[in-house]
Amino acid sequence: MTRAYNFCAGPAALPEEVLTQARDEMLDWQGKGLSVMEMSHRGDAFVSIAQQAEQDLRDLMGIPDDYAVLFLQGGASSQFAGVPLNLAGPNDPVDYVNTGVWSRKAIAEAGRMADVKEVASSEDAGYTHVPDPAEWRTRPDARYLHITPNETIGGLAYSRFPEAGDVPVVADWSSAILSEPVDVSRFGMIYAGAQKNIGPAGLTIVIVRRDLIGNAREGTPAMLDYAIHDKADSMYNTPPTYAWYLAGLVFQWLKRQGGLQAMADINRRKANRLYGFIDESDFYANPVQPEYRSLMNVPFTLADDSLNSAFLEGAEARGLLNLKGHRSVGGMRASIYNAMPEAGIEALIDYMAEFEKDKG
Ligand SMILES: *Cc1c(COP(=O)(O)O)cnc(C)c1O
Repeated sequence: MTRAYNFCAGPAALPEEVLTQARDEMLDWQGKGLSVMEMSHRGDAFVSIAQQAEQDLRDLMGIPDDYAVLFLQGGASSQFAGVPLNLAGPNDPVDYVNTGVWSRKAIAEAGRMADVKEVASSEDAGYTHVPDPAEWRTRPDARYLHITPNETIGGLAYSRFPEAGDVPVVADWSSAILSEPVDVSRFGMIYAGAQKNIGPAGLTIVIVRRDLIGNAREGTPAMLDYAIHDKADSMYNTPPTYAWYLAGLVFQWLKRQGGLQAMADINRRKANRLYGFIDESDFYANPVQPEYRSLMNVPFTLADDSLNSAFLEGAEARGLLNLKGHRSVGGMRASIYNAMPEAGIEALIDYMAEFEKDKG
């Protein structure tokens, strides 16, 4: 068996140890004689798996007790609607910062449900920086302020977070959750699709301060009502049980690595190594201002676009997979989430250097 280095933005690489454990437990979970996939979500075995996963996530992120942690379906995209439905009335003011493709999607969805204001944007600058929070034109009466701390497609990340006073900050952290420590208490809500840095697709995590929920607007579907899911311990209906279990294995793996500060140190080293190589080369380029570069998603272009397919073919032949940039921006993108080992970065850099020497 050979495992490739998978640089996919999502669904993304998972830690090999986690996959091995899942394989070993596939047919018979801890002597119960059945797979986790086959368990009732209400049985003792699965409930213990579910509770352990939640506790491990709370430990890793230091989530305060007054926050609900929900294990949902529907992806981050469903929360684009869930956020305004739960936190704002039909004509209430809600503020959004536009830093890329995912912010824009969140803005478009909320625009159908509330009075959205784009309070800052780096669109005109080609999303190469995050607008300075001091210049955001936020509204003191906004029901929340929505940000996207890591823009997966543009490779843009916040280097600091706004002080929003009493206005709760809501963060779509899909592509950088668990990559470094975060002070959850500064946010009203954090949400993330699992398939980037948590586990398999099909699971969505919502972390929300309990005083913000329970007032979903009239007509909110039960499946999008956070208070209903909180009350039912995320078992209002059948949750994505196997994805929840795998996420739990990832949380335990993260604890064994030393937790989020240890991951942040490794992630910074990996990203610095790759950006350093790109910046030193005249052949590869990344347009994002250094202060705002994502540690998780590293887009880069080649000096000559006509070499893109040769680059990708050569990469694939070496087991460096899914380096093609998002269709909306082109070029290349290396997504280097927690599960990407440092050896994967070195293998990519070796290949990039060799390709430049041959073709550059
Ligand atoms: C991938 C991604 C999404 C969309 O997630 P789905 O789970 O596919 O709905 C939203 N926001 C960000 C920042 C993402 O990276």
